[in-house]
Amino acid sequence: MDMGISGKKALVCASSKGLGRGCAMALAAEGVDLVLNARGADALEATAQQARDLGVSVTAVACDITTADGQAQVLEAAGQIDILVTNAGGPPPGMWHDWDRDDFIAALDANMLTPIALMKASLPAMMDRGWGRVVNITSQSVKAPIPVLGLSNAARTGLTGYVAGTARQVAQKGVTINNLLPGIHATDRAVALDTGVMNAQGISMKEAQTQRQATIPARRYGTAEEFGATCAFLCSQHAGFIVGQNILLDGGGTNATI
Ligand code: NAP
Repeated sequence: MDMGISGKKALVCASSKGLGRGCAMALAAEGVDLVLNARGADALEATAQQARDLGVSVTAVACDITTADGQAQVLEAAGQIDILVTNAGGPPPGMWHDWDRDDFIAALDANMLTPIALMKASLPAMMDRGWGRVVNITSQSVKAPIPVLGLSNAARTGLTGYVAGTARQVAQKGVTINNLLPGIHATDRAVALDTGVMNAQGISMKEAQTQRQATIPARRYGTAEEFGATCAFLCSQHAGFIVGQNILLDGGGTNATI
């Protein structure tokens, strides 16, 4: 299927690895020019080169997207964009009593206020041109809480509330905003969480993975490639009537009828 977005320009945040990279490469495969971002310059440049090899133009901006300065750098380098994919690292796990105000502010900055700032900066020009796509990478934890990820549960739910209203305010201008909710995917983030389980329970990495896979009806982790393909579809011409949705990619892990 032709996605109809060849020649458009996308800003994909936190995209040198993992799910952000999956989204970037899927958009590049559709002929979308890219602005990529991550803190580490080496992995970022490697991903940028792989995207260029697909024939698109790529600008790489190495900075922390969760800071006002990082956001300004990325937006300045990006200029006019048609597609915005927001992403950042996830907060650390812990218990409900572990976190103080500063921990909550850091999580809100990374996983709620950063995507909101990027949307506020990008939406007006998209609306003026009558076309735009925003995809926010959030988490399965928005639909069903993951108890050890209280910071993530809190921050991402706040973003989801903001998107629910905002998506309905901008849709009349041809701009869609949707959220993609990853369940467990085979990325560095999954390795970090599996390592936590391994250490907490005194089991091997393989046992930790097997235990977590057993909680997923598909009995495997998702891949960045299939995640990216869903993102590319949401950014496509065909997805213009999908507005303000929270789309789970979790192998059936969230046990709910709707
Ligand atoms: P990942 O494999 O660890 O990749 C994270 C990417 O984001 C890297 O490119 C990293 O590069 C970049 N990054 C992290 N913090 C950044 C920052 N402050 N500024 C700019 N770039 C930053 O993670 P992932 O698995 O793709 O996860 C992406 C998001 O989905 C996270 O928020 C995660 O919590 C969420 N999620 C993941 C899963 C899963 O199973 N993988 C499940 C649910 C939710 P640098 O480190 O060089 O900056």
